[in-house]
Amino acid sequence: FLKGKSAIVTGSTSGIGLAYAKALAGAGASVMINGFGDAAAIETERAGLEALSGAKALYDAADMSKPDQIAAMVARANAELGGPDIVVSNAGIQHVSKIEDFPPEKWDAILAINLSSTFHLMRLAVPHMKAKGWGRIISTASAHSLVASPNKAAYVAAKHGLAGLTKTVALETATFGITVNCISPGYVWTPLVENQIPDTMASRGLTREQVVNDVLLAAQPTKQFVQPDQVAAMMLYLCRDEASAITGANMSIDGGWTAA
Ligand code: NAD
Repeated sequence: FLKGKSAIVTGSTSGIGLAYAKALAGAGASVMINGFGDAAAIETERAGLEALSGAKALYDAADMSKPDQIAAMVARANAELGGPDIVVSNAGIQHVSKIEDFPPEKWDAILAINLSSTFHLMRLAVPHMKAKGWGRIISTASAHSLVASPNKAAYVAAKHGLAGLTKTVALETATFGITVNCISPGYVWTPLVENQIPDTMASRGLTREQVVNDVLLAAQPTKQFVQPDQVAAMMLYLCRDEASAITGANMSIDGGWTAA
């Protein structure tokens, strides 16, 4: 149902973003993927997306902490794919530390990548979407856009900000055929979660097993990690014409976390 449409997915070399890119390509969209990683592995993913969609797939290495690189990526997507009709802002990093030890440069990086990059993508893509009278902007927020956890000051601040940014731009674009939403997963089993286990062990003095069962899944009543495919299915639904009345929403997929 997305044949002829083009999408940018930031942070799509891994985890949730890669699942998003596969879902969009599976529906026929041309896709620009983005993120860091091994060049050969990224090329394999890119070629796989092209085979899946029968449309173009491109890779752009733009660093989401650099506004000029974000602008160049959107311009390239416009020139080589048209649009973008769909922007999925997903790149994100985490740092776990007590507020008094939180490195200011980590704060700046998390705010830039997890929040400001979405502002730049929105301001650059909305004119193309308005011109076409159709657009979808979807960001990966987090349960941490709704509730907090200790030792994640920058991440929680950035994700709360993303939820507010989503609502604001939804109001501004509501009469232009554009919807703007965010998705708020609980703990999804990806490298981002796996990689924060050592820091959480250190900052709370816990074993690996205690971090998984008592910290990560403690908040998730289902006691199951969310799967990347489940998040991608929600993103794809938000791209459908049936979802045209959903805008400014924050869609929780958190195993009941924020119900508690
Ligand atoms: P991941 O670490 O597997 O993937 C992150 C992606 O972002 C990678 O492709 C990485 O290369 C890319 N990236 C990192 N810094 C970048 C930069 N400066 N410029 C461009 N790309 C960059 O993580 P994930 O778990 O798939 O997370 C994706 C998103 O989902 C993030 O925004 C994260 O906050 C959010 N999220 C994750 C979970 C979870 O439990 N995994 C829960 C809620 C929200």
